[in-house]
Amino acid sequence: MIASPLLRELIEALRCLPGVGPRSAQRIAFHLLERDREGGRHLADRLAAAMDGIGRCRLCRTFSEADTCELCASSSRDRSLLCVVETPADIVAVEDSTSYGGLYFVLMGHLSPLDGIGPAELGLDELDRRLGEGEVAEVILATNPTVEGEATAQYISERARAHGLRVTRIAHGVPLGGELEYVDGGTLAHAFAGRRDV
Ligand code: ZN
Repeated sequence: MIASPLLRELIEALRCLPGVGPRSAQRIAFHLLERDREGGRHLADRLAAAMDGIGRCRLCRTFSEADTCELCASSSRDRSLLCVVETPADIVAVEDSTSYGGLYFVLMGHLSPLDGIGPAELGLDELDRRLGEGEVAEVILATNPTVEGEATAQYISERARAHGLRVTRIAHGVPLGGELEYVDGGTLAHAFAGRRDV
């Protein structure tokens, strides 16, 4: 039994964090109170600032404090390339591991009719308007290689082709350094189906 109502409320609030159950929430609360009150205050302050101050970029929908994010506002990016990803974390992954120099569009999910997520929820009308403006020449589909991600990519590719644009899908397949016999069947099938001329 925890005697402090404030402590009970803190533990309950911490459970909104992904992967944090009752035990972990209690551990975090005790840790902050016992050993790091300054860190706890700083965390609360930064959390409040981020929740109040971070919105969405009006062009690519990624998280941004400004109306237009730094990537979309940059004059050094190739505006004819538009890479469609599912989440803001995917932008970070592409930026960190490739030399891609174009712009992005973030769906914030994938088509999932059973969960009520359709084209409107993913901003596909905005995307459609953008593709019709004439600046984008190639749409690069970088949604996840899942059933939902593939269906979403298929849907967007049809819309992009209707604008007469080039549409490409990133290749998913055998990891570099991987051995074929250890690659799962779905991945290998996809790698074969997606093979390109060399
Ligand atoms: Zn942006």
